[in-house]
Amino acid sequence: MISTKGYAAQSPTATLQPFSFERREVGPHDIKIEIAYCGVCHSDLHQVRDEWGGSIYPMVPGHEIVGRISKVGAAVTKFKAGELAGVGCFVDSCRTCESCRAGNEQYCDAGMAGTYNGYQMDKKTPTYGGYSNCIVVDENYALHISEKLPLQAVAPLLCAGITTYSPLRHWKVSAGQKVAIVGLGGLGHMGVKFAVSFGAEVTVLSSSAAKEADAKKLGAHHFVNTGNQQAVKAVRGKFDFILDTVSAQHDLNFYLNLLKTDGTMVMVGIPPEAEAVEAFSLITKRKTLAGSMIGGIRETQEMLDYCAENNIVSDIELISIQQIEQAYTRMVKGDVRYRFVIDMSTL
Ligand code: NAP
Ligand code: ZN
Repeated sequence: MISTKGYAAQSPTATLQPFSFERREVGPHDIKIEIAYCGVCHSDLHQVRDEWGGSIYPMVPGHEIVGRISKVGAAVTKFKAGELAGVGCFVDSCRTCESCRAGNEQYCDAGMAGTYNGYQMDKKTPTYGGYSNCIVVDENYALHISEKLPLQAVAPLLCAGITTYSPLRHWKVSAGQKVAIVGLGGLGHMGVKFAVSFGAEVTVLSSSAAKEADAKKLGAHHFVNTGNQQAVKAVRGKFDFILDTVSAQHDLNFYLNLLKTDGTMVMVGIPPEAEAVEAFSLITKRKTLAGSMIGGIRETQEMLDYCAENNIVSDIELISIQQIEQAYTRMVKGDVRYRFVIDMSTL
């Protein structure tokens, strides 16, 4: 076994503390990655605090993992020691169901093996995430990372990047469309970058008036402070597509009313509370309310390659592992500019 250092939560109310644990030895199909950086996703916080229920402790969070490969198994063909590699939100899946065969491992019928707060496919061995110094993963569940981009700013692409790229591609967002991104946080700011890159006319719908200048710098064409009734009225019935990244309770009907006929709103944010949807919000203009979860390995690689070609990375604030609780506190307040990334050398 490989002795590993990390930071873990022992209960929903505990702060993250240093934690030692073991990872499996590098098997024939595995690679070992020395983790250089790990992004901080709001999902880490939801799960550490057991806001969705069913959390498993001790929990080492982190699913935006990048680093260099230090060892490869004898049967590995896709990676070499010394190369960069990344790991996102899952480390395995059944590989045989319809979703897995279609490259949608995140929708695996047997349930994907989450990178943390989950179990390997044996449903017994707990998984530990990227707030740690290394990870051992099957090569089929690792991603190639370009040497061209700043590595710390690439880490958030593994979750925030693919979670926004995938629905924008699936619903074919492109030039000529009016798109709104709700919530300018980790996911939201990547949603803005991709939607702009795909040619759409992009509006940020934010509860934080102070983020207007940043939204424009990120490439958004318009900014609406959702607390400003006049500004909201002016965009009623205007959007073809809305990507909702909000992490806390909010009124979905308010945003559905901003769609035009045949418009679609996709939920990627996962507020712990149930949200009520009025039938009238949908029927009046034949609207669609949908959801989307991360993306499969093939599409994640496509997204990473697209980012390398188009020079797209996350806007980050680099922190030490010792600053993780302050980062969580700021995240709850919506004060993320626009992704915290942990420098794992501080572990
Ligand atoms: P984040 O960085 O904290 O951003 C969330 C943003 O939502 C905030 O910055 C804020 O933006 C807005 N917001 C927060 N509370 C709000 C409220 N009460 N009303 C309106 N807006 C509010 O979080 P994140 O990492 O981007 O994650 C966002 C959500 O997506 C989380 O629930 C996370 O668990 C989920 N997620 C889902 C997937 C998936 O596969 N579907 C993957 C990753 C994460 P403004 O200040 O601009 O309003
Ligand atoms: Zn995430």
